[in-house]
Amino acid sequence: MPCRDLKDTAMKITKDASLKKYSGYGCGGRADRLLEAETRQELKNAVGSFSGDDRWTVLGRGYNTLVSDRGFRGTVIVLGGDFRKMSAAEEVISVSAAASLPELVKLAGDLGLEGAEFLAGIPGTVGAAVVCNAGIPGSEISDIIEEIEVLEVPGAGYSVLGKDKVRFGYRYCSLDGKSIITGCRIRLKKGIKSKIMSRIQEYLDTRKKRQPYEYKSCGSVFKNPDNGNTPAAKLIDEAGLAGHRIGDAQVSPKHVNFIVNLKNAASEDIWSLIKFVKGRVKETSGKDLELEIRLLGEGFEN
Ligand SMILES: Cc1cc2nc3c(=O)[nH]c(=O)nc-3n(C[C@H](O)[C@H](O)[C@H](O)COP(=O)(O)OP(=O)(O)OC[C@H]3O[C@@H](n4cnc5c(N)ncnc54)[C@H](O)[C@@H]3O)c2cc1C
Repeated sequence: MPCRDLKDTAMKITKDASLKKYSGYGCGGRADRLLEAETRQELKNAVGSFSGDDRWTVLGRGYNTLVSDRGFRGTVIVLGGDFRKMSAAEEVISVSAAASLPELVKLAGDLGLEGAEFLAGIPGTVGAAVVCNAGIPGSEISDIIEEIEVLEVPGAGYSVLGKDKVRFGYRYCSLDGKSIITGCRIRLKKGIKSKIMSRIQEYLDTRKKRQPYEYKSCGSVFKNPDNGNTPAAKLIDEAGLAGHRIGDAQVSPKHVNFIVNLKNAASEDIWSLIKFVKGRVKETSGKDLELEIRLLGEGFEN
């Protein structure tokens, strides 16, 4: 696991920091404090100074997070430096939490290791992918995880948990909100490099055809109801909402479970559109759509 090397260096703290670049939608307000930790020791020191009342969260690249225009009254932790490292031995890749998921997929392909191809095209960090149990119908990152390294908050310290100690479900992980994921170990299988590479390319091509990559978004907004068995997109489409807009927030006609920022949408526009879609789908299908994206900050109460 990538958990050694506890160097002691100064950590970067920014007060009143913009969170725009930490949301896939490219909008949102400010956090009271942004804490950028590059080493395990820095992160441990920072978390050790939190009291039980301190409000905190961790963000990766924000590709699953809508940040309120009113911002977040607390500390946002982002991981960099050592937390971007990956290393491989035989069929196992040890990867730190801030490593990019696309880079993990690429490394596995380059090494001729199969089993991670289904993650191709999912943007963001490995840590968030674990917390969100990212995946596609039929495959989730938890399928290939062997161990997870976490830092308890408030801080007892680092520990490594076998997969049997963690519960996973459809976009669910029992560590969510309780610990900071700092790394994990992925077990893959030896395969034929050219076949792995072409499977990765197929996933990327399919996504390009079906998803609106040309606009800022956080991917699918809603979970598929009935434990993943009814496509939310079908319900949204049947409700006649393709292309529906509030300000510059639009239900993408290319993939109706995506809300895209056409240019200058505020988080409030996106939130209003989310509520509108939920209401209309309830009227037309009787189903309650549940959010797949995460909300950060004040003002999402109604
Ligand atoms: C075009 C597009 C396509 C997508 N397709 C898919 C898809 O097919 N399948 C899928 O599952 N998702 C998909 N997504 C959503 C998104 O890519 C994933 O949820 C991804 O895992 C988010 O990574 P991130 O680092 O950007 O997460 P963030 O939005 O930064 O964080 C997500 C959540 O994880 C928490 N978190 C982040 N890092 C840590 C950490 N180290 N420790 C503890 N908690 C942490 C955050 O607090 C937040 O609650 C898509 C998004 C886009 C834009």
